[in-house]
Amino acid sequence: MAVHQLGIIGYGGMGSYHHKKMPKPDNLRYVAACDSSPARRELAKADGLIAYENPNDLLNDPTVEAVLIATPNHLHFPLAMAALEREKHVICEKPATLTAAEFKQLMDAARERNLLLTCHQNRRMDKDFLVIQKLIQSGELGEVFRLESRVEGSRGIADTWRRKKEFGGGMLYDWGAHLIDQILLLTPGKVTSVFMRQQHLIDSDADDNFRLELEFDTGLSALVEIGTCNFIMHPLWYVLGRKGSAQIDYWDLSGKVVTLTNETICWEDEIKPNIAGPSITMAPRAEDTVAVKPLPEAKPDDTFFYRNFVQALEGAEPLCVDPAQTLRVMQIIDLAFASAEQNQVLQCKI
Ligand code: NAD
Repeated sequence: MAVHQLGIIGYGGMGSYHHKKMPKPDNLRYVAACDSSPARRELAKADGLIAYENPNDLLNDPTVEAVLIATPNHLHFPLAMAALEREKHVICEKPATLTAAEFKQLMDAARERNLLLTCHQNRRMDKDFLVIQKLIQSGELGEVFRLESRVEGSRGIADTWRRKKEFGGGMLYDWGAHLIDQILLLTPGKVTSVFMRQQHLIDSDADDNFRLELEFDTGLSALVEIGTCNFIMHPLWYVLGRKGSAQIDYWDLSGKVVTLTNETICWEDEIKPNIAGPSITMAPRAEDTVAVKPLPEAKPDDTFFYRNFVQALEGAEPLCVDPAQTLRVMQIIDLAFASAEQNQVLQCKI
C-alpha cells in the first residue's frame, strides 16, 4: 500500500490540529512541518515531524507529495503558489486566499500541472449544518425562502494576526469563509446580489462583526451574521419555508421544527384582543394547525476530508471540496467587502 506523505507550512494551532487530531486513513501521514517560530519547530519535532524553518526546504523535500498551508491568511496565496510550482498538491486552510483573483491563479497553476488544489472546509461536517441540510432536503418545510445563519460570541477577537487586515484577519475571512460555503451547499441557486455591513468594535482595522445578505435567483434570501460582542445570542440557524420553520438555538443542537398540519386559516371579522394586541395578522394561529417536532438527527463523518483527499490523489474520486466551489466563496467575499466599502447592494451572478 502506497503511503502518501504530506508536509505542513504553519505549525500553529490549526497546523498541529491537522497532524494530531484529524482522523486520517492509514496510508496518509504528515512527515514534515515548517514554521518561522523556533518554539513551533520544537513542537513539530516533539510531535515526530521533520522541522524546517524555510518553506522552500520543505517544498524541496522529494518525499513530500502534498502540502497543507496553515499560516496566517495573507500567506496562503504565495505559499500555495510556491508549492504548486514545485509540483506539490495543495490543501489550503480557509480562507483559501484573500481574493478570488488569487484563488483563480492557483486553480490555473494546479490545472496546468495536473495537481490537486482544495480548501479545508471542515464545517461541512458540523452537526447543525447537517441537520439543516437534512431538513431542507426532506421537503418538510416546503419551499425554503429564508436562511439565517449566525455564529456569535462575546470574547472579541484574540489580539494576534487575526485582528489585522494586512494579515487577512477579521470575521468575514474567518467564519464567513465557512458559513458562506455552507449556505451555497444548501441551495442550487445563483447569488444575484450581495450586501454587507461590518463593524469594528475593537481597535482593529479588520471586521469583528458583520452582517451579510445574499439574494438568490430562486427567490431565496440568506443572512450570514457574525458577532463577537454578543452576551445574548441569536439562534445558530433560523429557517423559514412556506410550510414550516426550523430553529437551532445553540451548538448543543437544542431547537425545534414547526410544520403546518392544516393549511386552512379562518380570519376573524372583528379585531379581538390577543397576546399581540389588536392585530388580526399577528394573532397566534390555532395550536392544532401545526406540529412541533424535535430536530432530526445528523451523523457527521469526521473522516471525510482526508479519506477523500487520498481517493483524489489516487484518482478514485473527485475532490469533495472542489476548487470551483471555493472560487464562488471567494467571489462572494470580494463582493461583500466592496459592498461594505461602497455602502451598496451589489448585483452579480455567482
Ligand atoms: P496560528 O497563529 O496559531 O498559526 C499560524 C502559524 O504559522 C504560526 O505557528 C506561525 O509561526 C506560522 N507562520 C507564520 N508565518 C510563517 C511563514 N512565513 N512560514 C512558516 N510559518 C509561518 O494560526 P491558526 O489559528 O493555526 O490559523 C492558521 C490557519 O488555519 C488560518 O488560515 C486560519 O484561518 C485557519 N484555521 C482554520 C480552522 C478551521 O476550522 N478550518 C480553525 C482555525 C484556524
